[in-house]
Order: sequence, then structure tokens, then C-alpha cells
Amino acid sequence: MKYIFVTGGVVSSLGKGLAAASIGTLLEHRGLKILLQKFDPYLNVDPGTMSPYQHGEVYVLDDGAETDLDLGHYERFTKTALSQINSLSSGQVFENVIKKERRGDYLGKTVQFIPHVTDEIKDRINLVTEKNPDVDVIITEIGGTVGDIEGHLFLEALRQFSLEVGREKVCFIHVTLLPLVRAAGEIKTKPTQQSVAKLREIGIMPDIIICRTEHDLDDANKAKIAMFCNVPVQNVVAFRDVENTIYECPLDLRKDKIDRLVADVLNLKSETPNLSAWQDFVDRIVNPTNEINIAVVGKYIELQDAYKSIYESLTISGAAHRTKVNVLKVDAEKIDDKNAAKIIGEVDGILIPGGFGDRGIEGKIEAARYAREQKIPFFGICLGMQIATIEFARNVCGLAEANSTEFTKDSPHPVICLQEEQQGVTDMGGSMRLGSCESILIAGTKSHKLYGGANRIHERHRHRYEFNSDYQNQLQEAGLVIASVSEKEGLVEIIENPDHPFFVAAQFHPEFKSKPNLPHPLFFGFMEACLNR
Ligand code: GLN
Repeated sequence: MKYIFVTGGVVSSLGKGLAAASIGTLLEHRGLKILLQKFDPYLNVDPGTMSPYQHGEVYVLDDGAETDLDLGHYERFTKTALSQINSLSSGQVFENVIKKERRGDYLGKTVQFIPHVTDEIKDRINLVTEKNPDVDVIITEIGGTVGDIEGHLFLEALRQFSLEVGREKVCFIHVTLLPLVRAAGEIKTKPTQQSVAKLREIGIMPDIIICRTEHDLDDANKAKIAMFCNVPVQNVVAFRDVENTIYECPLDLRKDKIDRLVADVLNLKSETPNLSAWQDFVDRIVNPTNEINIAVVGKYIELQDAYKSIYESLTISGAAHRTKVNVLKVDAEKIDDKNAAKIIGEVDGILIPGGFGDRGIEGKIEAARYAREQKIPFFGICLGMQIATIEFARNVCGLAEANSTEFTKDSPHPVICLQEEQQGVTDMGGSMRLGSCESILIAGTKSHKLYGGANRIHERHRHRYEFNSDYQNQLQEAGLVIASVSEKEGLVEIIENPDHPFFVAAQFHPEFKSKPNLPHPLFFGFMEACLNR
């Protein structure tokens, strides 16, 4: 087993996750089996309790782990199968150490940052190693920026780990920023030098430096960075701003042969990668033959990262149709019963994503109503499905005050409500219906057809509230189609409106299972309907 640790310097939001994912893509195309994971220094046990304003999207794994959006990149960029143990935060580390202390595992000792906390981190790497004996390389991204107080223990643990496992089995990659000082017309290497100096202070000598640059990196700057950062000049790699899509990142890093550099550092035998399928996928995004406009009606619209996997799924399914997808980000709070036509009247499709809390709900209901009445392709996801249900109950079934008990406790028609097992829940962390569940598809429905006639599907969940089965008959009699129910509890998983070109809404999150050249069937169908329109 070999290890790559990816650290970041100078500033955050450098695209460290994309760099790690891209290295994964390239190594996989060299025929190696890889695993990606992330260590995050914050004190939350997981990002599940953080607002999208703080952290962007919460990405959910099959086993229900609520993780950082970078794990979404890992799963989309590679075949890596991730689980709860591939996402470690300081919160988890300390929680484990304190539990052990209380249990008496360290009895007699003073419990300290070193060795007890660093051991806990190293134990996790060893556990992942043990559970994945067939993997050639584990790539671990360390969140945050070198020099942050909170990241220090992770870096110390990695330093120790590299000594214990054998330094030749470890490749440290440091991703930094080369700012361009416009007035001087110069790229500056000093922040990179200083951030590498910080790493060396801790005792970590990076093997490869990845430099984020707006433009190319010339030989003089490469040589300078190599000398000051103590790496061979060919191990200074440029990572340019990509023009069209993040899926160009592996191709960009390949220009400086990063995969071969890594293979050399780690002494890995592997083939030159054949990237033609990846290249073709990128080409479909870069050179589209069609263009469509889709409105995403949500409440974190101004945030780039809040609906990350949804935007990626739209791009991916667009690529499958060689179609450029323009996303019109619509603030749900701006829509009312009079202005829907003005705001979303021109689009080819309307998508309502997941969400929590009552802000913007009425606007979303109006958007769903507009889509249904005007026969605009509609795709509801999680909260979006609950919205579509409320809208149908109110405006088709005549249950004017239908609502979800999440938004009002005393609706006479709670068509969305809590299941019994959720009713006593008081802890907010990790207590929703989470992860992959098996559901049955009903023959004859649009979804059944889109899933290629499959009878069973496995999709990831993250929600507390459910379609209220007390209203199932009434809604069905009014024309709502139930296209899927969960295997175990019979919970409604997909609803459809048959009298419509495409009106599909799912209680689960299909956006977590789209991959390049493998768009999720529901996104694929939605895109097709938008194109037909
Ligand atoms: N707030 C809703 C629930 O908890 C929907 C959650 C979501 O969209 N992820 O059921």
C-alpha cells in the first residue's frame, strides 16, 4: 500500500479537492486501484449540522455518512467506493479520544495531544488500509491551509505516519497559489515558498508542488520554486484555471505528467493512461450542439457550492445529450402567485432541490404549480418532492391548507409528516433517514422505463419528513402516480404526474449518483424532456 497526502497552502478554495480527485482519475487510468478520503480539521463530528452557507453541500455516502462535498468529486472522478471511515474530522478524533479516556483505555496515563490524538489519526489510516487490502494507493486530502492552528495535529500525525510506514511509501503533495500581481505583471512565488517553509517546520518535505495559476508557469518560476522548496524542478507542476469545466482538471494536470511523477516517487509500476473516454466526455461539454435553460429554484442560490452535486449532475446529463445547460438560479423567496411566468416562464425545465426550514417554501410551491400547469419539465428532489406533493394536494385535490409538518404543526392536511421513529428524535447530528435504501419501481411508470426496466433501485437519502401514507389513496385518485416505494417500510419514493411531458419527483437524492459518461437515469430523462421542449 502506498499513500499520497495532499495539503494546501497560502489560501483556501484552491481546488485541492479537485487536484486530489484528478490525481485519482489519472492513477486509475494507469491501471491502479485507488481510494480517496478526506481529513477535516474542524470540530463538528461531521458537516451534517453545518449550514450550506458555512460549508456548501453535504454529500451523503451509501452508508449514510454525511460528508464534505469533496467526497462528491472523489466519487464522480473515480470508481472509488467510499464509506464512513473515509471522512475524518477533528470532532470525531476528539470524540473517540474522550470516549476512550472515560472508558479507561488509557488508565493511569495523562492523555495528551501527542501521542493520543495523533495516534487516533494514524489509527484511522491504518484501519482504512486494513479494510482495503486490494487498493494500491490511498489518497488523503487534508482540509484547511498549512499554518492553521487546527490542522497542526493532522500534519504531525502524517509526519509520524510517514516515518512508521516508510518514507518511500508516502508522497506528500502540496497545492499552493501563485498570485499574479497585475500592476507588476508578475507571478509571485513567495507565498508558496513560505507555505512550504511552514510544512518543513513541522518536518514534512513535500515531494511535489502543485501551483494553482491563472496562466502557465514559466521555467524561471519553476526553477525558483524548485530551489526554495527543495524539490526537483520537474516536480513543480502547474494547475491552471480550466476554461470550461472542472472535468478538464485531470487533463490539465496530465500536461505536466503528474501521474508519472507520483508513480516515480512511489515506485509504482503502471501504464501510460488512456484518457480517450474522459477526453470525449470533456469534448461533449466543451463543444455542445444544443443549449437549454433550467431554473433551479432554491434558497441558497447565491452560493456556488450549496447544490454542487445537482449542478454537476446537470452538466453530466447535459454532456450525454451534447447539450450545454445554462442554470438560471432562482431565489424561491422572489416567486409569488403572480410573477412565476415572468421569472421562470422562458425556461426549458424547472428543478427544485433539497432543503430544510420554511424559508422560500411558498415560492417553491408556486414554481411547482407553474411547471405542472404550463407543462414545463419538472424535477423535484427531496424537499422538491415534498413541495410537489403539497402543491398537488392543494391545487389538484382541493386540500387548500395541505402542508408539511416541518413548516406548520397544525395543518389540517399534513400530507408530509414525520414517521413515528423520527418523532422522539432530539439530537440533530446523524439522526435523519440517511444513506442508501432499496426501493421497488412500479411497472408502467416513467421512472421504471428510465431506470431501464429495473425492478429495484438503491438510492441515497437525507431527510426526516415523509409522504404521509394516510393521503396516498386520495392523491392517487386525483391522478398522482406513485412510481416507487421503499422495500422495507413502503414509503413513497417517487411521484409522477402522468398528464405531463415530465413531472417526476424523488424523495431521495439522485444527484449523488451521477458520474461522467454515466448520468443518473432520472437526470438523463429530465434533460431529454427539456430538450424536447
Ligand atoms: N427538510 C426535508 C426533510 O427533512 C427535506 C430534506 C432534504 O431536502 N434533504 O424531510
